[in-house]
Amino acid sequence: MPTSVRALQGDITQLPVQAIVNAANASLLGGGGVDGAIHRAAGPQLLEECRRLGGCPTGEAKLTRGYRLPAEYVIHTVGPVWHGGGRGEPALLASCYRRSLELAAAQGIRSLAFPSISTGIYGYPLELAAQVAVSTVRATLERLDGLEQVIFCCFSARDLQVYQRLLGERAGTDPAPPGQLPGD
Ligand code: ADP
Repeated sequence: MPTSVRALQGDITQLPVQAIVNAANASLLGGGGVDGAIHRAAGPQLLEECRRLGGCPTGEAKLTRGYRLPAEYVIHTVGPVWHGGGRGEPALLASCYRRSLELAAAQGIRSLAFPSISTGIYGYPLELAAQVAVSTVRATLERLDGLEQVIFCCFSARDLQVYQRLLGERAGTDPAPPGQLPGD
């Protein structure tokens, strides 16, 4: 069965999916943005487990449990800081999506949500990052089994519009009530 790939607007810490991806920094010891929100929602045991991982290089991904999150697992990946695009940023960002999906498939994860990696504090232009995200996820899913659902979780309505356009989705559909995904 082909994997369902779609975008929705929401707080990734609330999504009832089996795994969420964290846009972490290389220390894996927490930070601002979505990273901070995930650590707050998961509770202090997440940081304890992250401490034992010894950090993560840019473009790579590591798996932990989700603790108090609805999600069973968190996949921590480290996006590139945007320096104008000439320092390998697109390849590193693509690697984040690819490695996260590979880790999820290896773990037998069926549903996974991504935030818009690198487009907050790390400054990657949203439109360019979303192109990398959508094309890399589509290409990687061609060769992976087991994933039934991949979600791009957008924090803002503007981000959602960009992802929906790239995915060829109709904008302006009703959001799902909290705790439920559209179409469930
Ligand atoms: P980075 O350092 O990789 O740029 P940020 O956390 O600063 O990571 O931003 C990545 C994206 O995550 C941004 O689009 C930001 O708006 C979004 N974001 C922040 N909090 C949440 C959240 N709770 N759920 C989903 N996305 C979020």
